[in-house]
Amino acid sequence: MYSPSIQNLIKALKKLPSVGERTAERYVFHLLKSGKKETTELMLALKNLTQTVTSCKVCWNFSDSSPCSTCKDPRRDHGTVCVVEDPQDLSVIEHTGDFRGVYHVLRGLVDPTDEDGLKKMKIKELIGRVKFGNKEIKEIILALNPDMAGETTMLYLEKELKKINPSLIISRLARGLPLGSDLKYADEITLGSAIKNRVSKG
Ligand SMILES: [Zn+2]
Repeated sequence: MYSPSIQNLIKALKKLPSVGERTAERYVFHLLKSGKKETTELMLALKNLTQTVTSCKVCWNFSDSSPCSTCKDPRRDHGTVCVVEDPQDLSVIEHTGDFRGVYHVLRGLVDPTDEDGLKKMKIKELIGRVKFGNKEIKEIILALNPDMAGETTMLYLEKELKKINPSLIISRLARGLPLGSDLKYADEITLGSAIKNRVSKG
């Protein structure tokens, strides 16, 4: 039986995705053996995460400032907004180096059976940006995973966005991304060409 302090940390770590009992135990004993320096570094990083990181109130990415550096960057094309599911997807698209517009992080996908989840998503914020934003938005790129939940979300957004502005260009990533795949695991070349050859829905 482990001491209560050890059990507490194991319990906290197990809440992280893909961390089970064994992995949590390994982390805790690694930290205990590695000494104070490594544990203090981790503690400081976690403290900064809660104290410094905030949500950009324009694109809803996590950032140290709001608006974030991308939303403030005058060299970016603020008329083209790439809509992604979560911050990791934004990061993979940014790494391709093929996109110079700005982003909108939805923080989830539409699930018609989950009303609470729908409320937490940044859909009305996206609609607000298109409707009242101080920068005119000409094109929305829906860069969501080509699976069932991604497809449902894209159809929903297309319908809502067209209602506010019928002349808005709504495009999707080009095929080439295998059906049912996850953007996070797409290689940069595939994803880069998918964004360059995106398909406009008119
Ligand atoms: Zn931003």
